[in-house]
Amino acid sequence: MTGSGPDGQRKLSGPIGLMGAMESEVELIQSYLVDAHPIEGPCPLVGGRLDGTDVLLAQCGVGKVNAALAASALAQNGASCIIFTGVAGAAGPDLDIGDVVVGNRFVQHDADGTAFDDPIGVVPGEPRSWQPDERLHTVLMGCAARVFDARRRVVSGTIASGDQFIGDPAKVRWIHDTFGALAVEMEGAALAQAASHLHVPFAVVRVLSDRADGTAVTDFPAFLAQAARHDRDLARAVVAELSGGVPAA
Ligand code: SAH
Repeated sequence: MTGSGPDGQRKLSGPIGLMGAMESEVELIQSYLVDAHPIEGPCPLVGGRLDGTDVLLAQCGVGKVNAALAASALAQNGASCIIFTGVAGAAGPDLDIGDVVVGNRFVQHDADGTAFDDPIGVVPGEPRSWQPDERLHTVLMGCAARVFDARRRVVSGTIASGDQFIGDPAKVRWIHDTFGALAVEMEGAALAQAASHLHVPFAVVRVLSDRADGTAVTDFPAFLAQAARHDRDLARAVVAELSGGVPAA
């Protein structure tokens, strides 16, 4: 991601990659880009400057394969790091809609190689879990604490991903009990797997949009517009922090 300058400050070696799954998760960020230009590819990207810093924005679409394709497109276009902002279902029993989980560990809850004696959740041949870049994780924790209202909890924890929208109390409890997950979504651990193969530092922040227990369908659309504003504010705060600047008001 970075090299050290003479002042000891770490410098970005390329544009900051920003990723979201759904249109609502990236459209507000895109509206703040200056000199926005489309970049064709397996996952279309938009290049531009956010508050003066070069960024590449990807709307990856929903699910693990789309997240991996977008990570690859961002890496091929020189992204120095990848930050995912989006929504997720709450998997921690103490967490509620509007709370924030910054991933410190990623697992794929739908991976099942148990027929070969692999533990549940392990993609055969891959690690049991993935970790984000430490510095990006710390930056995201700090930015989330500033961007979100003090009533919201901002916690660091395991994010479980799979190609399933979880809307069942028994299933979300199983995901929590089996993996210790605090949030469940559909892209984070695929980004983690792809980014580790691509050697690109990454981190993921998720605002909890639903309880992943079947009430999701009513909670979910209502929450998206509000989450989009948080995604924009988080993206601006992270870009400012990583580039050493301050986001314009
Ligand atoms: N038709 C919907 C599909 C959304 S899929 C739409 O396009 O509006 C859900 C998205 O939100 C995924 O990107 C996923 O990462 C995240 N998500 C939020 N709550 C989730 C849950 N309970 N289970 C799985 N993913 C969830």
